[in-house]
Amino acid sequence: MKRIGVLGAGQLGRMIGLAGIPLGLEFRFLDPAEDPPAAAVGSVIRAPFHDAAALDALADWADVVTYEFENIPVGAARHLAARVPVWPPAEALEASQDRLEEKRFFRALGIPTAPFRAVNGPEDLVAAIAELGLPAVLKTRRMGYDGKGQRVIRPGDDPAAVWEALGPGALILEGFVDFRREVSSIAVRAIDGTFGCWALSENVHRDGILRRSASPATDAAGIADAAADAMRRLMSTLNYVGVLTVEWFETATGLVANEMAPRVHNSGHLTIEGAETSQFENHVRAVAGLPLGSCAPRGYSGMINIVGVEPDPAAVLAQPDVHLHRYGKSPRPGRKLGHATVRRDDRASRDAALDRLDASIP
Ligand code: AMP
Repeated sequence: MKRIGVLGAGQLGRMIGLAGIPLGLEFRFLDPAEDPPAAAVGSVIRAPFHDAAALDALADWADVVTYEFENIPVGAARHLAARVPVWPPAEALEASQDRLEEKRFFRALGIPTAPFRAVNGPEDLVAAIAELGLPAVLKTRRMGYDGKGQRVIRPGDDPAAVWEALGPGALILEGFVDFRREVSSIAVRAIDGTFGCWALSENVHRDGILRRSASPATDAAGIADAAADAMRRLMSTLNYVGVLTVEWFETATGLVANEMAPRVHNSGHLTIEGAETSQFENHVRAVAGLPLGSCAPRGYSGMINIVGVEPDPAAVLAQPDVHLHRYGKSPRPGRKLGHATVRRDDRASRDAALDRLDASIP
Protein backbone atom coordinates (compact mmCIF):
# COMPACT_ATOMS: atom_id res chain seq x y z
CA MET A 1 0.00 0.00 0.00
CA LYS A 2 1.83 3.04 -1.23
CA ARG A 3 -0.37 5.19 -3.42
CA ILE A 4 -3.12 7.26 -1.82
CA GLY A 5 -5.73 8.91 -4.04
CA VAL A 6 -7.54 11.86 -2.50
CA LEU A 7 -10.78 13.51 -3.65
CA GLY A 8 -10.27 17.22 -3.01
CA ALA A 9 -6.98 19.08 -3.02
CA GLY A 10 -7.54 21.88 -0.53
CA GLN A 11 -5.51 22.58 2.61
CA LEU A 12 -6.78 19.40 4.27
CA GLY A 13 -5.41 17.36 1.36
CA ARG A 14 -2.16 19.29 1.59
CA MET A 15 -1.76 18.51 5.30
CA ILE A 16 -2.72 14.84 4.70
CA GLY A 17 0.08 14.71 2.13
CA LEU A 18 2.53 16.48 4.45
CA ALA A 19 1.83 13.79 7.07
CA GLY A 20 1.97 10.81 4.72
CA ILE A 21 5.10 11.61 2.70
CA PRO A 22 7.47 10.78 5.63
CA LEU A 23 5.78 7.35 5.81
CA GLY A 24 6.86 6.70 2.22
CA LEU A 25 3.39 7.23 0.76
CA GLU A 26 2.60 9.00 -2.50
CA PHE A 27 -0.42 11.18 -3.21
CA ARG A 28 -2.55 12.02 -6.21
CA PHE A 29 -5.52 14.37 -5.90
CA LEU A 30 -8.66 14.99 -7.93
CA ASP A 31 -10.04 18.53 -7.78
CA PRO A 32 -11.69 20.96 -10.20
CA ALA A 33 -9.70 23.98 -8.93
CA GLU A 34 -6.71 25.47 -10.67
CA ASP A 35 -3.49 25.31 -8.63
CA PRO A 36 -5.06 23.99 -5.36
CA PRO A 37 -3.10 23.89 -2.06
CA ALA A 38 -2.38 20.12 -2.26
CA ALA A 39 -0.54 20.54 -5.59
CA ALA A 40 2.55 21.13 -3.40
CA VAL A 41 2.47 17.50 -2.15
CA GLY A 42 1.33 15.44 -5.14
CA SER A 43 0.02 15.55 -8.68
CA VAL A 44 -3.53 16.76 -9.31
CA ILE A 45 -6.05 15.44 -11.82
CA ARG A 46 -8.01 18.58 -12.63
CA ALA A 47 -11.63 17.56 -13.21
CA PRO A 48 -15.09 17.80 -11.67
CA PHE A 49 -15.78 15.17 -8.98
CA HIS A 50 -18.42 13.44 -11.13
CA ASP A 51 -16.10 13.01 -14.15
CA ALA A 52 -16.07 9.20 -14.63
CA ALA A 53 -12.88 9.19 -16.75
CA ALA A 54 -11.02 11.20 -14.11
CA LEU A 55 -12.30 8.94 -11.32
CA ASP A 56 -11.14 5.91 -13.33
CA ALA A 57 -7.70 7.47 -13.81
CA LEU A 58 -7.45 7.95 -10.04
CA ALA A 59 -8.63 4.36 -9.38
CA ASP A 60 -6.08 3.01 -11.90
CA TRP A 61 -3.24 4.72 -10.05
CA ALA A 62 -4.30 4.46 -6.39
CA ASP A 63 -4.08 1.55 -3.91
CA VAL A 64 -6.73 3.25 -1.75
CA VAL A 65 -8.82 6.41 -2.10
CA THR A 66 -9.90 8.85 0.60
CA TYR A 67 -11.45 12.33 0.59
CA GLU A 68 -10.90 15.65 2.30
CA PHE A 69 -14.26 17.25 1.44
CA GLU A 70 -17.68 15.92 2.53
CA ASN A 71 -19.71 17.39 -0.32
CA ILE A 72 -18.27 15.18 -3.05
CA PRO A 73 -21.06 13.30 -4.82
CA VAL A 74 -21.80 9.95 -3.13
CA GLY A 75 -22.00 8.54 -6.67
CA ALA A 76 -18.31 9.39 -7.20
CA ALA A 77 -17.33 7.51 -4.03
CA ARG A 78 -19.43 4.49 -5.07
CA HIS A 79 -17.99 4.56 -8.60
CA LEU A 80 -14.48 4.41 -7.15
CA ALA A 81 -15.43 1.82 -4.50
CA ALA A 82 -16.30 -0.66 -7.25
CA ARG A 83 -12.61 -0.61 -8.24
CA VAL A 84 -10.50 0.34 -5.23
CA PRO A 85 -11.03 0.54 -1.44
CA VAL A 86 -12.54 3.92 -0.48
CA TRP A 87 -12.24 5.06 3.16
CA PRO A 88 -14.18 6.43 4.99
CA PRO A 89 -17.07 4.36 3.56
CA ALA A 90 -19.60 6.01 1.22
CA GLU A 91 -22.32 5.45 3.88
CA ALA A 92 -20.53 7.97 6.12
CA LEU A 93 -20.51 10.55 3.33
CA GLU A 94 -24.19 9.94 2.73
CA ALA A 95 -25.12 10.29 6.40
CA SER A 96 -23.21 13.57 6.74
CA GLN A 97 -24.43 15.29 3.56
CA ASP A 98 -28.03 15.66 4.65
CA ARG A 99 -28.67 17.40 7.98
CA LEU A 100 -31.99 15.57 8.41
CA GLU A 101 -30.51 12.09 7.85
CA GLU A 102 -27.56 13.02 10.03
CA LYS A 103 -29.81 13.96 12.96
CA ARG A 104 -31.88 10.78 12.52
CA PHE A 105 -28.67 8.76 12.52
CA PHE A 106 -27.47 10.40 15.76
CA ARG A 107 -30.86 9.79 17.40
CA ALA A 108 -30.93 6.14 16.29
CA LEU A 109 -27.70 5.66 18.27
CA GLY A 110 -29.10 7.45 21.33
CA ILE A 111 -26.96 10.55 20.75
CA PRO A 112 -28.87 13.72 21.71
CA THR A 113 -29.54 16.40 19.06
CA ALA A 114 -31.59 19.59 18.92
CA PRO A 115 -35.29 18.88 18.31
CA PHE A 116 -35.89 19.08 14.55
CA ARG A 117 -38.54 18.95 11.83
CA ALA A 118 -38.27 18.49 8.06
CA VAL A 119 -39.49 21.60 6.21
CA ASN A 120 -40.47 21.29 2.55
CA GLY A 121 -42.62 24.40 2.14
CA PRO A 122 -43.86 27.54 3.92
CA GLU A 123 -46.79 25.65 5.51
CA ASP A 124 -44.39 23.08 6.99
CA LEU A 125 -42.37 25.94 8.42
CA VAL A 126 -45.37 27.46 10.22
CA ALA A 127 -46.30 24.02 11.61
CA ALA A 128 -42.70 23.29 12.68
CA ILE A 129 -42.43 26.67 14.45
CA ALA A 130 -45.69 25.91 16.31
CA GLU A 131 -44.15 22.63 17.51
CA LEU A 132 -40.59 23.69 18.28
CA GLY A 133 -41.16 27.31 19.33
CA LEU A 134 -38.87 30.29 18.74
CA PRO A 135 -36.05 31.08 18.47
CA ALA A 136 -35.22 28.28 16.06
CA VAL A 137 -32.68 27.78 13.29
CA LEU A 138 -33.76 27.10 9.71
CA LYS A 139 -31.07 25.36 7.63
CA THR A 140 -30.73 23.92 4.15
CA ARG A 141 -30.46 20.14 4.44
CA ARG A 142 -27.54 20.00 2.00
CA MET A 143 -24.37 21.94 1.17
CA GLY A 144 -24.25 24.05 4.33
CA TYR A 145 -20.83 24.93 5.76
CA ASP A 146 -19.19 27.67 7.82
CA GLY A 147 -22.63 28.91 8.91
CA LYS A 148 -23.85 29.33 5.32
CA GLY A 149 -27.36 28.23 4.33
CA GLN A 150 -29.00 29.00 7.67
CA ARG A 151 -31.06 31.67 9.46
CA VAL A 152 -32.09 32.12 13.05
CA ILE A 153 -35.84 32.82 13.29
CA ARG A 154 -36.82 34.97 16.28
CA PRO A 155 -40.22 35.88 17.72
CA GLY A 156 -41.80 38.50 15.44
CA ASP A 157 -39.93 37.38 12.27
CA ASP A 158 -42.03 36.60 9.22
CA PRO A 159 -41.66 32.85 8.48
CA ALA A 160 -42.64 33.40 4.82
CA ALA A 161 -39.74 35.85 4.34
CA VAL A 162 -37.24 33.42 5.95
CA TRP A 163 -38.56 30.63 3.75
CA GLU A 164 -38.03 32.87 0.70
CA ALA A 165 -34.42 33.50 1.77
CA LEU A 166 -33.44 29.81 2.08
CA GLY A 167 -36.00 27.87 0.00
CA PRO A 168 -37.08 26.40 -2.25
CA GLY A 169 -35.61 23.01 -1.55
CA ALA A 170 -35.42 20.67 1.39
CA LEU A 171 -34.85 22.47 4.71
CA ILE A 172 -34.72 21.51 8.37
CA LEU A 173 -35.92 23.54 11.35
CA GLU A 174 -33.90 22.99 14.52
CA GLY A 175 -34.84 24.12 18.00
CA PHE A 176 -32.39 26.71 19.29
CA VAL A 177 -29.86 25.08 21.61
CA ASP A 178 -28.97 27.19 24.64
CA PHE A 179 -25.33 26.16 24.77
CA ARG A 180 -22.47 27.15 27.05
CA ARG A 181 -19.79 26.50 24.47
CA GLU A 182 -18.99 24.52 21.35
CA VAL A 183 -16.57 21.59 21.43
CA SER A 184 -15.52 19.01 18.88
CA SER A 185 -14.48 15.37 19.00
CA ILE A 186 -12.03 13.95 16.52
CA ALA A 187 -11.47 10.20 16.47
CA VAL A 188 -9.84 7.62 14.25
CA ARG A 189 -10.62 3.98 13.51
CA ALA A 190 -8.36 1.48 11.76
CA ILE A 191 -9.39 -1.33 9.41
CA ASP A 192 -9.07 -3.85 12.26
CA GLY A 193 -11.39 -1.75 14.46
CA THR A 194 -8.67 -0.17 16.62
CA PHE A 195 -10.06 3.13 17.90
CA GLY A 196 -8.39 6.32 19.10
CA CYS A 197 -9.86 9.64 20.18
CA TRP A 198 -8.07 12.97 20.60
CA ALA A 199 -8.81 15.28 23.52
CA LEU A 200 -11.86 17.52 23.02
CA SER A 201 -11.25 20.91 21.40
CA GLU A 202 -13.13 23.99 22.57
CA ASN A 203 -14.03 26.14 19.56
CA VAL A 204 -14.92 29.80 19.04
CA HIS A 205 -16.38 30.99 15.72
CA ARG A 206 -16.27 34.45 14.15
CA ASP A 207 -18.71 35.34 11.36
CA GLY A 208 -19.67 31.64 11.16
CA ILE A 209 -16.06 30.51 10.59
CA LEU A 210 -13.84 28.81 13.16
CA ARG A 211 -11.49 31.39 14.69
CA ARG A 212 -9.95 29.71 17.71
CA SER A 213 -9.58 26.19 19.13
CA ALA A 214 -8.00 25.08 22.39
CA SER A 215 -7.41 21.54 23.59
CA PRO A 216 -7.86 19.67 25.90
CA ALA A 217 -11.12 21.47 26.67
CA THR A 218 -11.82 21.89 30.40
CA ASP A 219 -14.08 19.04 31.49
CA ALA A 220 -15.77 19.48 34.86
CA ALA A 221 -18.86 17.48 33.79
CA GLY A 222 -17.20 14.38 32.32
CA ILE A 223 -18.20 15.23 28.75
CA ALA A 224 -14.98 13.86 27.24
CA ASP A 225 -15.89 10.29 28.20
CA ALA A 226 -19.45 10.66 26.88
CA ALA A 227 -18.11 12.10 23.61
CA ALA A 228 -15.54 9.33 23.14
CA ASP A 229 -18.20 6.69 23.79
CA ALA A 230 -20.47 8.28 21.15
CA MET A 231 -17.59 8.40 18.65
CA ARG A 232 -16.86 4.74 19.20
CA ARG A 233 -20.50 3.79 18.58
CA LEU A 234 -20.82 6.02 15.49
CA MET A 235 -17.66 4.62 13.94
CA SER A 236 -18.34 0.96 14.59
CA THR A 237 -21.91 1.32 13.25
CA LEU A 238 -20.55 2.81 10.01
CA ASN A 239 -17.67 0.29 9.81
CA TYR A 240 -15.63 3.46 9.62
CA VAL A 241 -11.97 3.71 8.61
CA GLY A 242 -10.14 7.04 8.93
CA VAL A 243 -10.80 10.21 10.92
CA LEU A 244 -14.31 11.37 11.90
CA THR A 245 -15.27 14.70 13.49
CA VAL A 246 -18.40 15.56 15.49
CA GLU A 247 -19.20 19.13 16.52
CA TRP A 248 -21.09 19.38 19.80
CA PHE A 249 -22.93 21.97 21.84
CA GLU A 250 -22.27 21.71 25.56
CA THR A 251 -25.48 22.47 27.48
CA ALA A 252 -26.40 22.44 31.16
CA THR A 253 -27.56 18.83 30.72
CA GLY A 254 -24.67 17.51 28.64
CA LEU A 255 -23.62 17.23 25.02
CA VAL A 256 -25.90 17.77 22.03
CA ALA A 257 -24.58 16.72 18.62
CA ASN A 258 -24.69 19.45 15.96
CA GLU A 259 -23.06 17.84 12.95
CA MET A 260 -20.44 15.37 11.81
CA ALA A 261 -17.77 15.54 9.11
CA PRO A 262 -16.29 12.30 7.72
CA ARG A 263 -12.82 13.79 7.51
CA VAL A 264 -10.00 15.59 9.25
CA HIS A 265 -11.22 18.91 10.68
CA ASN A 266 -10.09 22.47 11.20
CA SER A 267 -10.49 22.14 14.98
CA GLY A 268 -7.95 19.29 14.85
CA HIS A 269 -5.15 21.24 13.17
CA LEU A 270 -3.66 21.78 16.61
CA THR A 271 -2.97 18.04 16.82
CA ILE A 272 0.02 18.57 14.48
CA GLU A 273 1.99 20.05 17.37
CA GLY A 274 -0.40 19.22 20.23
CA ALA A 275 -0.78 15.44 20.05
CA GLU A 276 1.51 12.44 19.93
CA THR A 277 0.15 11.62 16.45
CA SER A 278 -1.71 14.25 14.41
CA GLN A 279 -5.18 13.79 12.91
CA PHE A 280 -3.56 13.88 9.47
CA GLU A 281 -0.98 11.19 10.19
CA ASN A 282 -3.50 8.86 11.82
CA HIS A 283 -5.96 9.37 8.99
CA VAL A 284 -3.28 8.32 6.51
CA ARG A 285 -2.19 5.41 8.71
CA ALA A 286 -5.80 4.20 8.99
CA VAL A 287 -6.63 4.31 5.28
CA ALA A 288 -3.25 2.82 4.34
CA GLY A 289 -3.81 -0.11 6.71
CA LEU A 290 -0.93 0.88 9.02
CA PRO A 291 -1.03 0.70 12.85
CA LEU A 292 -2.37 3.87 14.48
CA GLY A 293 -0.28 6.15 16.67
CA SER A 294 -1.36 7.45 20.07
CA CYS A 295 -3.84 10.36 20.10
CA ALA A 296 -2.64 11.49 23.56
CA PRO A 297 -2.18 15.25 23.97
CA ARG A 298 1.26 16.75 24.29
CA GLY A 299 0.40 19.26 27.00
CA TYR A 300 -1.97 22.08 26.06
CA SER A 301 -2.36 23.46 22.56
CA GLY A 302 -4.28 26.17 20.79
CA MET A 303 -4.87 27.36 17.25
CA ILE A 304 -5.89 30.60 15.56
CA ASN A 305 -7.24 30.48 12.02
CA ILE A 306 -6.03 32.93 9.40
CA VAL A 307 -9.10 33.97 7.41
CA GLY A 308 -9.34 36.48 4.57
CA VAL A 309 -6.13 38.43 5.20
CA GLU A 310 -2.57 37.21 5.73
CA PRO A 311 -0.76 38.53 8.80
CA ASP A 312 2.93 39.46 8.52
CA PRO A 313 4.55 36.00 8.93
CA ALA A 314 7.57 37.52 10.66
CA ALA A 315 5.33 39.19 13.27
CA VAL A 316 3.58 35.89 13.99
CA LEU A 317 6.83 33.93 14.19
CA ALA A 318 8.55 36.56 16.36
CA GLN A 319 6.42 35.24 19.25
CA PRO A 320 8.10 32.41 21.16
CA ASP A 321 7.24 28.86 20.07
CA VAL A 322 4.54 29.68 17.55
CA HIS A 323 4.04 27.40 14.52
CA LEU A 324 2.73 28.88 11.29
CA HIS A 325 0.97 26.89 8.54
CA ARG A 326 0.20 28.74 5.31
CA TYR A 327 -1.91 27.08 2.63
CA GLY A 328 -0.59 28.88 -0.46
CA LYS A 329 -4.00 30.40 -1.30
CA SER A 330 -4.64 33.90 -2.59
CA PRO A 331 -6.45 36.12 -0.05
CA ARG A 332 -10.19 36.61 -0.40
CA PRO A 333 -12.76 37.61 2.28
CA GLY A 334 -13.89 34.59 4.31
CA ARG A 335 -11.24 32.30 2.81
CA LYS A 336 -9.15 30.09 5.12
CA LEU A 337 -5.53 30.98 4.29
CA GLY A 338 -3.63 29.31 7.11
CA HIS A 339 -3.45 28.76 10.84
CA ALA A 340 -0.98 29.20 13.68
CA THR A 341 -0.52 26.99 16.73
CA VAL A 342 0.95 27.23 20.21
CA ARG A 343 1.73 24.38 22.60
CA ARG A 344 2.66 24.74 26.27
CA ASP A 345 3.08 22.45 29.27
CA ASP A 346 0.34 24.09 31.32
CA ARG A 347 -3.06 25.57 30.58
CA ALA A 348 -2.38 29.08 31.91
CA SER A 349 0.74 29.58 29.75
CA ARG A 350 -1.10 28.17 26.74
CA ASP A 351 -4.00 30.58 27.29
CA ALA A 352 -1.64 33.55 27.55
CA ALA A 353 0.27 32.53 24.41
CA LEU A 354 -2.98 31.91 22.53
CA ASP A 355 -4.36 35.35 23.51
CA ARG A 356 -1.14 36.98 22.23
CA LEU A 357 -1.32 34.98 19.01
CA ASP A 358 -5.00 35.90 18.57
CA ALA A 359 -4.16 39.60 18.93
CA SER A 360 -1.41 39.34 16.27
CA ILE A 361 -3.68 37.87 13.57
CA PRO A 362 -6.29 40.10 11.90
P1 AMP B 1 -23.59 24.67 11.56
O1 AMP B 1 -23.49 25.15 10.14
O2 AMP B 1 -24.70 23.70 11.80
O3 AMP B 1 -22.27 24.22 12.11
O4 AMP B 1 -23.96 25.97 12.42
C1 AMP B 1 -23.11 27.09 12.51
C2 AMP B 1 -23.22 27.75 13.86
O5 AMP B 1 -24.55 28.21 14.11
C3 AMP B 1 -22.92 26.79 14.99
O6 AMP B 1 -21.54 26.70 15.21
C4 AMP B 1 -23.67 27.44 16.15
O7 AMP B 1 -22.92 28.50 16.70
C5 AMP B 1 -24.91 28.00 15.47
N1 AMP B 1 -26.02 27.01 15.52
C6 AMP B 1 -26.27 26.05 14.59
N2 AMP B 1 -27.34 25.30 14.93
C7 AMP B 1 -27.79 25.80 16.10
C8 AMP B 1 -28.88 25.46 16.99
N3 AMP B 1 -29.74 24.46 16.70
N4 AMP B 1 -29.02 26.19 18.13
C9 AMP B 1 -28.17 27.21 18.42
N5 AMP B 1 -27.15 27.58 17.63
C10 AMP B 1 -26.95 26.90 16.49
